Amino acid sequence: MAPPPKTPASRNAAGKAAGLKARKPSAKQSTKPATLSRARIEELFARLAAANPEPRSELEYVNVYTLLVAVVLSAQATDAGVNKATRALFAQVQTPQQMLDLGLDGLKAHIKTIGLFNPKAKNVIALSEILVRQHGGAVPRDRAALEALPGVGRKTANVVLNIAFGEETCAVDTHIFRVANRLGLAPGKTPLAVELALEKVLPKAYRRHAHHWLILHGRYICKARAPACPVCPIADLCGYTAKVLA
Ligand code: SF4
Repeated sequence: MAPPPKTPASRNAAGKAAGLKARKPSAKQSTKPATLSRARIEELFARLAAANPEPRSELEYVNVYTLLVAVVLSAQATDAGVNKATRALFAQVQTPQQMLDLGLDGLKAHIKTIGLFNPKAKNVIALSEILVRQHGGAVPRDRAALEALPGVGRKTANVVLNIAFGEETCAVDTHIFRVANRLGLAPGKTPLAVELALEKVLPKAYRRHAHHWLILHGRYICKARAPACPVCPIADLCGYTAKVLA
């Protein structure tokens, strides 16, 4: 679900309309991106929001429990690869008890195309047992309880809290880590540092969906090896010194 590309002319017009001047690189420019001003951050999210007002996860799920399972399975795997494996699984299994009934070998048979499927399958069975035993079969709306589940770290908890419970969390994955640093939006050396920096700078109006906008921007435009700067809708706001606009 790539945001529609905009032309350099439309980007410039949008920047001028927002009273922003394009940055000119200088010979002495640092390799570190400049931290974005509040006005630039507002403008950046206004553009991402206008292009995709209701962003959604590309992971497929049918309820909160299957969302949790899909996110656990997605570690170091693509959403498309996870979806391919979980379509048949989630047609059959939609609750922790149903997962326990399926069993470890049954689960492995469904997800064997996903990287690290052996430890992931063990984690899914173990977390399903805990959900049944300690939470009445429900996924808790509580960070500590989520992070106590096998295979669930801060990032997974943030995704579930955001998507399933509407909380304004921002799960920093590889895309958000790269984009936040390149843009100068929330520089940090670790995912946690970037997450905490984002919490400080994200405008209130955009906090709920910032996670999705930044992931999609990183996945389809600001790609790791070859960022598509010439079609980037926020290029004139970006502090990345190595961006190539033509
Ligand atoms: S201009 Fe290039 S480096 Fe900057 S956000 Fe856009 S794609 Fe990424």
